[in-house]
Amino acid sequence: MNFELIKESGIERLPMWEMYGGPLWANTRWIVYGLAALVVAVFIYGIWQRVKAYRMGCKSEGALAPLGARINELVRYAFAQLKVLREQYPGIFHLFLFWGFVVLFIGTAITVLDEDIWRLLTGHKFIVNSVYVFVSFMLDLFGVLAVIGLGMAIFRRYVLKPKGLDNQREDATLLVWIFVILVTGYLTEAARISVVAQVKGPQSISYEAAGFLGYILYPAFKGEIWHKLLWSFHVLISLAFVASIPYTKGLHIFSTMASIFTHSLKPKGKIIEPIPDMMARMEAGEEVELGYKRIEQFTWREILQLDACTRCGRCQDQCPAFNTGKHLSPKEFIQATKQYWLTKWAAQRDANVELSAPPAEGAAAAPAADKNLLLKSEVAFVGDETAKGFVDSAVLWDCTNCMACMNACPVMIEHVPLITAMRRELAMEFDDTESACKSFFKNMDTNANPWGWNPGDRAKWAVEMGLPTVLDNPDYEYLLFIGCMGAFDPKAIKANKAFVKIMQAAGVNFAVLGEMEMCCGDSIRRLGNEASFQALVGMFKQTVQDCGLDPTFAGKKLVTTCPHGYNCLKHEYPDFGFKWQVVHHTELMAQILKSGKLKLKGGNGHTAVLHDSCFLSRYNDVADEPRACLAAAGLKVVETERNRDRTFCCGGGGGRVWLEEHLDEAQGIFRINNVRSDEIIKTNADFIVTACPLCGMMFDEAFKRPTMEKAMEGKKVVDVAELLADALVEEKTN
Ligand code: SF4
Ligand code: SF4
Repeated sequence: MNFELIKESGIERLPMWEMYGGPLWANTRWIVYGLAALVVAVFIYGIWQRVKAYRMGCKSEGALAPLGARINELVRYAFAQLKVLREQYPGIFHLFLFWGFVVLFIGTAITVLDEDIWRLLTGHKFIVNSVYVFVSFMLDLFGVLAVIGLGMAIFRRYVLKPKGLDNQREDATLLVWIFVILVTGYLTEAARISVVAQVKGPQSISYEAAGFLGYILYPAFKGEIWHKLLWSFHVLISLAFVASIPYTKGLHIFSTMASIFTHSLKPKGKIIEPIPDMMARMEAGEEVELGYKRIEQFTWREILQLDACTRCGRCQDQCPAFNTGKHLSPKEFIQATKQYWLTKWAAQRDANVELSAPPAEGAAAAPAADKNLLLKSEVAFVGDETAKGFVDSAVLWDCTNCMACMNACPVMIEHVPLITAMRRELAMEFDDTESACKSFFKNMDTNANPWGWNPGDRAKWAVEMGLPTVLDNPDYEYLLFIGCMGAFDPKAIKANKAFVKIMQAAGVNFAVLGEMEMCCGDSIRRLGNEASFQALVGMFKQTVQDCGLDPTFAGKKLVTTCPHGYNCLKHEYPDFGFKWQVVHHTELMAQILKSGKLKLKGGNGHTAVLHDSCFLSRYNDVADEPRACLAAAGLKVVETERNRDRTFCCGGGGGRVWLEEHLDEAQGIFRINNVRSDEIIKTNADFIVTACPLCGMMFDEAFKRPTMEKAMEGKKVVDVAELLADALVEEKTN
């Protein structure tokens, strides 16, 4: 044997460097230092190139502040992996892998610190005696967890083959690479222990038992050659892995953390931003960029999110459009957009264009020679058949804005704002909309309601009921915003009347807008027609002002039965100067119940199943309140498999309620409302309850299918308010 052991604190071991004789082994320290420096340089260069590619985008306001809240997000979602753990099997293996790697990285870092810095500075090491035993044990323990995690990942990807995962070469490369690093690490340990045991006898290595993997395996190795080979191989592939990170799927270790750190901290319901000063700029004849069609319009944060997508498929698994056979897969949408970005980046980098400075606002569009276009519909628009578009219009129009994708994404990618930004381009620039959408836009523009009906009829039932308007009762506490469905749809009118009955029974001081009310504009905005939306908001404001009222509604409360209106009025109207406080009718009813102002009949043993509206439960975390109302009405609440923030969409959000939904069951294309109603009917509840007029409308159709006839016998589709109103015994007035 051509080496010497070193003895520290009674432990004899191989030195970390200069292990063996000969020019190569006597200089391992300097060889590895040199390689490590090269690796760091390659790594930093790769990261810098990626950052430059992110900077193709424009500014992203507030993406780094407030720091405390962002660190909190990082701890919760990157380190504690709270979202990853929502799915048990992949959650557990990813947690094992992540923490296995973190601990192994920390272990390697403190070993280097101990040997290459601390010992050189002080002449002593701190990883000795019990510290050595503890470090050895922890590294083996977490290494085993990482190997188990890796095995589970491989089994899932290649044996279980879940639908959401597509297997590409980069996935297999990453898994095999990590596996080889882990395994050779422990084999190297075993070979090292074997060398010491050969020289000093097995009794001299009892302290190595803490590093149980190497200790168990060491009898399998004989001779220093194994240690030399394994050590060299392990060091080289580990260094190569680090160098490769910015250029391979390994980058997700950092890009996902950056995505989590920088994601939007605004309320979930506020995901759509207005085009700044759109109307004023358009009126001034300024050219306004309407939607996304160039990479320079994306913010750097949005580009970073594209890069952070790991193709895990969780968004796709939850997407109602994908799960009913439509064109849209949120995962593929993100990937297609990412491909567009990478293609643009490669083209500009190759052309050696300076990308460090984002283009000034209103900068000229991409050069005409550019054949890589974000939207496929632009290909026809520019009339160049050799051009390539990346995102299909059909994909964008399929989205119901249900936000299930964003709710599921473990790295906080925000699909819906991107889809909306691209829809704006289709709707306002390319006129790439189906005929139903065109009619909807026209009706909204002419009569401020989806059907184009006489706006004078909006207040019809409210007038018939003698409800006070804001002009009759300016000191109202709550403004009841009836909404288009509440004004014209018989089912929604019924729900609103029931809610009025409850407010009257509880003595709530409320008023309606009467003929001043217009559509809130949620659907038209989500269908991409921002110009009409902003015009509508402006018109409403002007009307209110013309009637001598404060158009900001400062200090006033607004209540509505429609979650779409609720979300839009609560989170989006404040961008246009509105200062009201908005609640959903289920929130107000729950509040009234708590105050004890209602006297209700006891239960009669009936069951009720609540369909959670996406815009209520997922966008605004309102899920307990409607259930509390049902319980108070004496009903036993039963649940569908997917409920609360994991609810399955009815298919009506994002303006889809006004469009045609393609149905071809033979080809595996189903209607979303039918799929959800099939799920709901399985609960066999007496009442199928909604808290949203759009859901009510979508289900009205789905539950009236001939196939539902038998199952629906004795059952009813109703709004929460109707059940609570039916349970009223008497009013307790002041
Ligand atoms: S918002 Fe809903 S429909 Fe749209 S992509 Fe996400 S999951 Fe699919
Ligand atoms: S967008 Fe998010 S959930 Fe969807 S595949 Fe990418 S990382 Fe997974």
